[in-house]
Amino acid sequence: MNRQLQTPVSGRPLRGLFVSGTGTDVGKTVALAALLRACVRAGVRVRPVKPVQTGVSGPDDARGDAAVYAAAVEGLRDAVAPATLRRFAMPASPHLAAGREGAHLDVDGLRAAVLRHWEGDEDAQGLLLEGAGGLHVPLNDTEDMLDLMEALGLPVLLVGGNYLGGLNHVLLSVEAVAARGLTLVGVILSDTRPPSGREEADARAIRQDNEALLRRRLAGRGARLIVLPFEPDLHSEPRASLAWQALAEACEPLVDAVRSACEPRAGEEAAVRVRDLQERDRRSLWHPYTSATNPLPVFVMARSRRNRLALADGRELVDGMSSWWTAVHGYNHPRLTAALRRQAGRMPHVMFGGMTHEPAVLLAERLLELLPDGLERVFFADSGSVAVEVALKMALQYQQGVGAREKIRFLTPRGGYHGDTLGAMSVCDPVTGMHTLFNGILPRQIFVERPSCRFDAPFDPASLEDARRAFEEHGREIAAVILEPVVQGAGGMWFYHPDYLRGLAELCRAHGALLIFDEIATGFGRTGRMFALEHAGVTPDILCCGKALTGGVMTLAAAVCSQRVAEGICRDGQVFMHGPTFMGNPLACSVALASLELLADGAWRRQVAALESSLRTGLSPCAGMPGVADVRVLGGIGVVETEQPVDMAALQDFFVQRGVWIRPFNRLIYLMPPYISPAEDIARLCDAVRAAVMEGRLS
Ligand SMILES: *Cc1c(COP(=O)(O)O)cnc(C)c1O
Repeated sequence: MNRQLQTPVSGRPLRGLFVSGTGTDVGKTVALAALLRACVRAGVRVRPVKPVQTGVSGPDDARGDAAVYAAAVEGLRDAVAPATLRRFAMPASPHLAAGREGAHLDVDGLRAAVLRHWEGDEDAQGLLLEGAGGLHVPLNDTEDMLDLMEALGLPVLLVGGNYLGGLNHVLLSVEAVAARGLTLVGVILSDTRPPSGREEADARAIRQDNEALLRRRLAGRGARLIVLPFEPDLHSEPRASLAWQALAEACEPLVDAVRSACEPRAGEEAAVRVRDLQERDRRSLWHPYTSATNPLPVFVMARSRRNRLALADGRELVDGMSSWWTAVHGYNHPRLTAALRRQAGRMPHVMFGGMTHEPAVLLAERLLELLPDGLERVFFADSGSVAVEVALKMALQYQQGVGAREKIRFLTPRGGYHGDTLGAMSVCDPVTGMHTLFNGILPRQIFVERPSCRFDAPFDPASLEDARRAFEEHGREIAAVILEPVVQGAGGMWFYHPDYLRGLAELCRAHGALLIFDEIATGFGRTGRMFALEHAGVTPDILCCGKALTGGVMTLAAAVCSQRVAEGICRDGQVFMHGPTFMGNPLACSVALASLELLADGAWRRQVAALESSLRTGLSPCAGMPGVADVRVLGGIGVVETEQPVDMAALQDFFVQRGVWIRPFNRLIYLMPPYISPAEDIARLCDAVRAAVMEGRLS
């Protein structure tokens, strides 16, 4: 799964159609050849390409599909050069035929081969890619033809057999294509069987019903239905030519769909669509931390896969952000999407008041297993900010419960970030959190200096002095200390020494304050440990997690507390006063479970270690360059801190031009790529950052 993608991030976007049968022996090759003939005659330069062909020995083997294409377009032969990218002798499913020859097929390799072929055929307007058998024909133990189709993202044309049972396969295939987010342009129902005497009347009735029913089911999907009759003369000269012509004419209604999937016009159309969406976006939407009246530009996204983002204009970007720490396994991970689909089929949501369900119970148990002993009760929230609100309220209700009524304030280091709701904002850094905008509204918390001791330098106990002084002065009022362990994220991407947390934990104990760790950004492996608290060996009273919890698929967060906190809150029949409407959402819990299962195989440790070393190699040359204040790397996080705030829009544009998605802010250019990113893509991200620094693009 982790093989190199080797795909160009620049260059001409792939165009064309993917043509798949709904099973074997449905007449796909004939249908495709007929369509090809129709396209060639209409002047659409599409090239037939078969990514995998089995049951042939060489390019001129008459049993190969190439021979059928050649027959279909006789006289026009020069216009097409049928290509087979991988070829195996055994007439069997690709995984078996390849295995017989000691070869291995996978989606990445085939996708790369298709793209290379496309790059090399500059004259073609598009490709007509042909599958093998049906959608779930295996390429290897884990990947099917449908996975290749998803990876290529082209519109799909299905070819099904027009006979008893054929309809079932067509309908299953239509649903499978839709579930992968692929566009279905049409279905060809093909009659491959010669009439058979007495039963012919029934067979005709079945064919007509297939056609009528499919027409009704496809209505409103924008997909065309083409019915190809049985042609007895395809292989008998001299009538073959007329037979092919008849089939090609039947395919003509599809030519426009092929043309629009192929012609460069599609690129311009895409550009128009992109501009249209951007303008409508500007009129009706508001983006994070932007002006509604003078917003920064936005890029229109179309698809995502692994660590790659496809823009609607066809460009592909290497992702450096994991969509704000979340997509640690990359995008569209099949196990995560499968978990989501499965749960969507059962029960997308149910109220959590008075009801529970297996995904929530399993997820809570799994989380508690991953967290250190002492954290024992899980409260699900629907976002990180809400989890922080929950944690703060837990601390306040706990102190009330144990009779410390004067403990109503929070202590936190400067430079923190805990979310954007009012309570969470009150403990964010007062400067970057823009507290001046909300003067008089935000509760006034107690701020201490940002932990000054670097992660990678010996610990200096003096860095705790400010916190100690604050406790001496305000200890009686402090309900809890809240902070992000080891890595301060959005507040400044600062990495500090784990011993700071040990000192702080002691101060909390001495003054009856609870300790809250906000692991929303750091949780689930990002710092090289499952949770950042493991660097320090400190267990907090309450822990918040979120972001990567669902692998970036759904919004879900949790506040997890100790039994002591739970009992303090619930003393004398009290209850905890919080309950989000979408609490414990089953879709989110199911995806989170699948994400934790992926982490359970431990591959993330190796992946994050590899990220760390690639980021170090790639970014450390920036240290000491003009305009750079500091370079630091920890786990899967790489930071170049600049001396002056960057020009965000200009720098963003520069990065997109270079095929990478990096979103700098203020004085920070930072990377936190998906764990599964190939090393050469990390190099590409780092190259772009170095280029920005060297070319003086920082401000
Ligand atoms: C992102 C973040 C939050 C807020 O989470 P949302 O899901 O955006 O509400 C809180 N704390 C930390 C450390 C974060 O990184």
